[in-house]
Amino acid sequence: MQINLYSDTQSKPNEAMRDAMFSAPVGDEQKSTDPTVARLLEAVAGKLGKESAIFLPSGTMCNAIAVATHCARGDAMIAETGSHMMRYEAGGMSALSGVIPEAIVGHEGRYGADDVQAHFHPGSRYTPATTLVAVEQSCNLAGGTVWPVETLNEVGRAAKALGMKAHMDGARLFNASISTGRAPAEHCAEFDSVWVDFTKGLGAPFGAVLCGSREFIDTAWQWKHRLGGAMRQAGIMAGACLYALENNIERLRDDHANAQYFNDLLKQNPFVRVRHDKVDTNIVYFTLTNASIAANQFLERLSERGLKIGHVGAGYRVVTYIGITKAHVEQAASTIAEVLSEI
Ligand SMILES: *Cc1c(COP(=O)(O)O)cnc(C)c1O
Repeated sequence: MQINLYSDTQSKPNEAMRDAMFSAPVGDEQKSTDPTVARLLEAVAGKLGKESAIFLPSGTMCNAIAVATHCARGDAMIAETGSHMMRYEAGGMSALSGVIPEAIVGHEGRYGADDVQAHFHPGSRYTPATTLVAVEQSCNLAGGTVWPVETLNEVGRAAKALGMKAHMDGARLFNASISTGRAPAEHCAEFDSVWVDFTKGLGAPFGAVLCGSREFIDTAWQWKHRLGGAMRQAGIMAGACLYALENNIERLRDDHANAQYFNDLLKQNPFVRVRHDKVDTNIVYFTLTNASIAANQFLERLSERGLKIGHVGAGYRVVTYIGITKAHVEQAASTIAEVLSEI
């Protein structure tokens, strides 16, 4: 049995999703006349409580366009040091928008309104103006940790009080919403822009939707076009996303239960130290108690037995997603135990 727990991006579209793509009515997305894209945008803007929305091929482009739209060149932007925007987007904020990062070393990927105030600079003849605050919900590199809605509200309000904009990288916002039991719109109520990804837990092959005010989305459209992100019969893509939106949100609960179960199994292993006792969402991080075991050797042994997991920073990462069952994580935990007992 081959099991791939490297990331929740590893899901494959099922037959029903492919059917939804096949039968999606299409038009010209660049002219805003694709009916399936229009349906998707209305549904996502509604769920996130925002006025308007724009369809983009990836989450990385959502972040790039949000920064480009909110900031001027030479501005500074606050984000957590381990966030995806800081670590994994090829320096997009600087390369594309000329924005310098103002990193907060947070706790579990999160920070507070007081951190926003401490890192804010109004800007002067000599200093960059801090004009944007970004948060990530859930926090990928911290282990899928979830911000409480109240903290998000405080951070968003602190940004506004200082004249800044607030942006939410909601790649896994639906996971966070399932975890907190609070509607997605409550999480981003105080944020000027927010996006969700369809290629993570929702299981689509592509697509992300960025939301904000009508004015924000008008400018975002210009950036989308400039970056070559304007499309034609994108209803084929949006069909997959709509299917995911309608069918794959509630079931994220199963991914969270499977991640917790896997974490509980790992915890029984004396060679393993899990990062969290309680898993917030679908991401598990762990390290090995015997630090002398080389990562490449460990990963290779797992791979020989059909298991693929991630290696991020100093730890190992396992992510559950649609198609991964309780039996899969059970098998994965026993494969890890087997390999560790041999090394
Ligand atoms: C995956 C991810 C992104 C980037 O999304 P893509 O659709 O892969 O470009 C951004 N932020 C976070 C937190 C992510 O996990």
